[in-house]
Amino acid sequence: MLTNTRLVHQPHDHRRCIHAALARANDLCAAENLRLTPTRESVLRLLWQSHRPMGAYQLQDQLAKLSGKTIAPPTIYRAVEFLLKVGLIHRIASLNAYIGCPFPNSDHSNLFLICNACGSAAEVAHNSINDLLKSASEKANFTLQDQSLELFGLCPDCRSQQEADDNQGKDNE
Ligand SMILES: [Zn+2]
Ligand SMILES: [Zn+2]
Ligand SMILES: [Zn+2]
Repeated sequence: MLTNTRLVHQPHDHRRCIHAALARANDLCAAENLRLTPTRESVLRLLWQSHRPMGAYQLQDQLAKLSGKTIAPPTIYRAVEFLLKVGLIHRIASLNAYIGCPFPNSDHSNLFLICNACGSAAEVAHNSINDLLKSASEKANFTLQDQSLELFGLCPDCRSQQEADDNQGKDNE
């Protein structure tokens, strides 16, 4: 199993995440002879600002602030499309937002654990999930081409916060 749940759900030095993500992106682009242009890199860096997915409007807004220039939507979409194609980011369909991939170039399940309270999204890859979905599709005589699993709930942090709030509520009764 591959996952970044530990990092997403625990306090950590997030600068390391950003640094590692950019290093991975540079390696991957160099290996495949692709160009990580300044705009592509800025968009990737923005998506790695936190472990929360970000939509295109937000990206446009933040890139404009960062560069001090007006950013046209196609600029964002072209950069996003490139990063998606290379596998450096994922689209969270139900949120219409994007998130950096913590392990590009690895086997993927496209399974995301999304917290309803803080909006964080962790990624999980698990072969047995892939096998299960594949065999279910095969049984239905369905040719599986792509998959995306978006699970919604509470991250450990928000759950304990909620439990503390619940307890306090009881004390006040
Ligand atoms: Zn981090
Ligand atoms: Zn991924
Ligand atoms: Zn949370």
